[in-house]
Amino acid sequence: MTTLTPSDKALVPFVSVENMMKLVHHIGIETMLSELAEYIEKDFHRWELFDKTPRVASHSEVGVIELMPTSDGEAYGFKYVNGHPKNTREGLQTVTAFGLLADVNTGYPVLLTEMTVLTALRTAATSALVARYLAPKGADTMAMIGNGAQSEFQSLAMKAICGLKTVRLYDIDPAATDKAARNLEGMGLNVVKCANAEASMEGAQIITTCTADKQCATILTDNMIGSGVHINAIGGDCPGKTELASAILHRSDIFVEYPEQTRIEGEIQQLDADHPVTELWQVMTGAAKGRTSEAQITLFDSVGFAIEDFSALCYVRDRIGGTAYFEELDLLADPDDPRDLFGMVRRATP
Ligand code: NAD
Repeated sequence: MTTLTPSDKALVPFVSVENMMKLVHHIGIETMLSELAEYIEKDFHRWELFDKTPRVASHSEVGVIELMPTSDGEAYGFKYVNGHPKNTREGLQTVTAFGLLADVNTGYPVLLTEMTVLTALRTAATSALVARYLAPKGADTMAMIGNGAQSEFQSLAMKAICGLKTVRLYDIDPAATDKAARNLEGMGLNVVKCANAEASMEGAQIITTCTADKQCATILTDNMIGSGVHINAIGGDCPGKTELASAILHRSDIFVEYPEQTRIEGEIQQLDADHPVTELWQVMTGAAKGRTSEAQITLFDSVGFAIEDFSALCYVRDRIGGTAYFEELDLLADPDDPRDLFGMVRRATP
């Protein structure tokens, strides 16, 4: 791990959207997804030492703005993220984000970065990491329902990390499916555009739901789900915003990131507060069982947890060293005499 000592003059490395995209191309998107999954898995193995709290959410009628903090005692990270399903109709993103990593020892920030692209990458890396533990052996076909901003990242991560060969796309908006199919062209996946959700699930061992709608939607009904599949439910991540019929939840073994947050935001908000769920970090450390039979339906009730963003922030911090893919921001007032903040301002008199 690189040291978290702030750079000279307390300049803070800043990764803009443009530089994040350059970093993705420099590393290679599939390599980056795989490396992010490694960082996330490593942090899931150290789960117990992190500060954990459900994210702090500010809801409005049209969306949510959230802060997601955590610390491993050495570094502290947070992400600012929004979720506004109506935004795409106005030419805006549903989800945007930025985040910060700081040194616990000094409290000084050591990285400020865009996290809209990084969130798509870390969400996809987490989905694929979890599918590697829970999806049926040899799973090579995925239904991808909801073909918006996250969808190509989800598909590529499943290819890079789980060996996915075929992705079957469906979206209520055919333009979104066309866009995803176009973007995935030549990327080594067999891409099939489907006319409805049922068709997208033909032959799929993994079913990803990644839609955006501020309501309790029913993207998957009970009769659509056969035995033995792995469901990767991404889009239900807010109170009153779910994607699955509750009957599916009763037939599934449910795996979550942080139960205290998922019970508020995930599919399981539809269930009793004591409905059993398994924490993913325990599956990864071997303390709990993952898939135990071929017939079992496994469900990753994904909402996105702060530790995944922390892992992603640490990854970017470690990967930008020696590259030109960051700027140095004059974000912190840092007078030579720490008590002479006023003097510093005074000396700057024009
Ligand atoms: P987006 O708005 O870009 O895409 C959503 C897509 O869903 C759109 O193309 C829309 O047409 C489609 N859709 C809506 N209703 C549908 C339906 N009934 N059937 C099929 N398609 C439907 O959003 P995005 O950035 O791709 O995010 C998708 C969802 O994932 C959002 O709800 C977001 O909050 C959530 N998300 C979760 C995590 C996590 O960690 N779990 C991370 C990022 C985003």
